[in-house]
Amino acid sequence: MPKLKPSPAITGITAYSVPRPEIPVDLYLHGNEGPAPTDTVLDALGERGVDLLRDYPNAKPLEELIAEREGVDREQVIVTAGADDALDRICRALLAPGRNMVLPEPTFVMFRRFAARAGGEVVSVPWEGPEYPTEAVLDAIDDQTTLVAIVSPNNPTGAVATADDVRRIAEAAPHALVIVDHAYVEFGEENLTQVALEYPNTVVTRTMSKAWGMAGVRVGYALSSPQVIDWMHTAGLPYAVSGPSLAFVARRLEEGDARVASFVERVKEERGALEARLSEAGLRVTPSQGNFVFARTDDALWVRDALAGMGIMVRAFPGNELLDDALRITCPGDEANFERLQHAIDTI
Ligand code: PMP
Repeated sequence: MPKLKPSPAITGITAYSVPRPEIPVDLYLHGNEGPAPTDTVLDALGERGVDLLRDYPNAKPLEELIAEREGVDREQVIVTAGADDALDRICRALLAPGRNMVLPEPTFVMFRRFAARAGGEVVSVPWEGPEYPTEAVLDAIDDQTTLVAIVSPNNPTGAVATADDVRRIAEAAPHALVIVDHAYVEFGEENLTQVALEYPNTVVTRTMSKAWGMAGVRVGYALSSPQVIDWMHTAGLPYAVSGPSLAFVARRLEEGDARVASFVERVKEERGALEARLSEAGLRVTPSQGNFVFARTDDALWVRDALAGMGIMVRAFPGNELLDDALRITCPGDEANFERLQHAIDTI
């Protein structure tokens, strides 16, 4: 029998999954998730529940709601299965063998996976300091560059780009699409959407998974020129987001941003306190504008295991050529869990 062979596009890339260790972990500060949704969201299906389950989903009403919130036309919005799906569609739409994406790293690991699956190359640029490496990115862009990534705030470091960075790159590379990944924008100082959308060659990606606390519904969206949005529709599955997910998110958005704002305030306080504590303990902390703190330390794996032993899961990054050993700890945004985390850190 001939053996099955996977496509070269997926070999050499490890599948990502949240580790569920043997020791009973009950506080996950590993995935940068947000607060639990309101009870009213759980009622969102209501009498429409049966229809929402039976019919093919219609994402248009949610796209209209988002367009109104963001002050853009509906043709400039696509709702996707998480920001992951938006990024994947962008890669499928713009990359191909012989084309490349300029990617400041370390950053969100899925960029590499999506680029590889689309058959494109990654031109990696080191992003070591707190500032986005604009000069190095401009130097790296060539005629084959069709995507440039600006992940701001960046995951895992929490560093950010500025409006000037977006302008310079969008202007210097009219032949490339500039991705502004705003998964953590609610926790940062600057929203770059308006500046980005002044240019036809930018796309802004957003998610309901973080500040909005709905990682389980798998909803994100992208804002761009109608042409790019059209390509993104073509590049993905039809009906990618389920009817119930669309309904949950529409309900949550209709409820407004007040809860997000108070959660973000709480996270910022925790972030400051945690950064101070970890620096006092001798870890090399860089200021984060995400809902997480990022600290370099040779003991990262040991600290992760020690916290796991107390039921708390955080993310450790074993050192490689891009990054020293490091820890990324999600701020829980909740008093009791934050106290528990602080207590655990003090114990080790
Ligand atoms: N972008 C960044 C920078 C992220 O960290 C994540 C999730 N970890 C995503 C996009 C994807 O988010 P989701 O698919 O949950 O919307």
